[in-house]
Amino acid sequence: TEETLVLVKPDGVARGLTGTILARIEAKGYSLVDIRLVEPSRDLLAQHYAEHEGKPFYEPLLEFMMSGPVVAIRLAGNRVIEGFRSLAGTTDPTTAAPGTIRGDLGRDWGLAVQQNLVHGSDSPESAARELAIWF
Ligand code: ATP
Repeated sequence: TEETLVLVKPDGVARGLTGTILARIEAKGYSLVDIRLVEPSRDLLAQHYAEHEGKPFYEPLLEFMMSGPVVAIRLAGNRVIEGFRSLAGTTDPTTAAPGTIRGDLGRDWGLAVQQNLVHGSDSPESAARELAIWF
């Protein structure tokens, strides 16, 4: 078994989709090991998004992530890192596949690629690093 960090981003919480997203995660059979509602500081987000520092979308991304509460989840399961990313769909909800969280629930509008509902760690190294930041 493996662990990953999942975030329901501020757009997901604000739109009342936390329960729907959790239901999809649970239906897949993954285990909620820990869950908390967080209002992330700039410091926490700078650590989380360190690899994106300097990119044009970095500042707007931090502002967006500070715009409201985030639900942080420590999630466990067989190959959950890859599995959750598959469940989430590709980064931009505009073209994410139907059947995925982003494809089914993400809105097709200008900021879709930023406001894409969820985050999931992309490797075992990222998962360990990110879980230590959020929990
Ligand atoms: P995540 O790591 O959040 O699961 P990802 O791995 O699909 O998403 P990354 O490329 O790591 O995407 O980007 C991290 C986050 O930055 C994205 O989830 C999105 O919110 C935002 N982002 C990425 N690319 C853009 C962009 N071109 N414009 C605006 N925001 C972006």
